[in-house]
Order: sequence, then structure tokens, then C-alpha cells
Amino acid sequence: MGNQTSENILQDRPYPHRCAACGQMTVIAVQIAYDARVRHDGKLHTFHIPSLRIDQCDHCGEQYFNAETDGQISVGLCRHLGIQTVDEIRAGIEKCGVSQKVFAEHLGIATEIVSRWLNDGVTQTRSLDKLMRLYFTMPSVRSALADCRGIQAVAEPDASNVLEDAGVRE
Ligand SMILES: [Zn+2]
Repeated sequence: MGNQTSENILQDRPYPHRCAACGQMTVIAVQIAYDARVRHDGKLHTFHIPSLRIDQCDHCGEQYFNAETDGQISVGLCRHLGIQTVDEIRAGIEKCGVSQKVFAEHLGIATEIVSRWLNDGVTQTRSLDKLMRLYFTMPSVRSALADCRGIQAVAEPDASNVLEDAGVRE
């Protein structure tokens, strides 16, 4: 955690920045109230963020959304939808003691999808969020998903056995 913070500080350019709109060195960090409109799972969602950190020009009023702003909007979307934030997913994977690759295999999705959630600000679908919640909280779900043959054996019963059973009962 400490490493992450110091990295962010190093990456941050010192304020004020030069404004791309008016050319003045007057861009500073401000907090604004923001009504977000985000498309997710094929639907447009609108929600209010009372305090969003953005860069804004003190001279001409131009507003700039940076990576941190995008992260805050993603968290706002997750809270609005009642799904896990990127930090909660990261913590869940860590708690289960699996690598991102193994986690993806157990869920039956590509490793790149997990990477997009964790690194690229992509928000998971509700259905995968539900599956992840089960995976994180229920060891029985974890072991079932880890053993794909076990799931197939339950899902596809032998047809001849079913017919025999039916015959015995009649
Ligand atoms: Zn400006």
C-alpha cells in the first residue's frame, strides 16, 4: 500500500499545470459535484458524485478529467450498481490465494478480462460480479469451479441411466 502511494506522488505532475485551452499555468486540483452518465452492461446509468476530484483551469474554467477522476467515477458506478469495486475484487483474489491466471481459469474467462478489470478501469458485468462473490465467500464454489469435470458430471447425467431408472419405476 505504501509503495502505491509514493508511486502516485511521483507520477503526479506538480500543480499548477499549463492549461491546454488558454495556455496559462493556472490548472489546479479542485473538488466538484458531478452527475455521471456511464454506459454499462448495455444500459446508460446516471448517478451523482458529491465530491469528484478533477483538474480545472482557474483562468478560463476548462475542466480536465485525469486517471484518478476516471477511477473515482468507476467506484461511483460500482456503488450505484451494488457491485464490487476494483479494490474489492483485488482483495478477494488475494484472500483466496490464487493467481489472476488461475482465478480467470476457475471463472471460465480469459486472463485479459481480469486484467482489464484490475488495470484498465473496465467494470465487470453483474452476472460475473455475482459469480465472483460466490467464489470469494464460498469454499465449496471455489472447489467446484476448480474441478471442471465435477461440474460436467452433475450437469450431464448419463442418458442410459436415466432411461433405466424410468423403466424400473414403471
Ligand atoms: Zn485555461
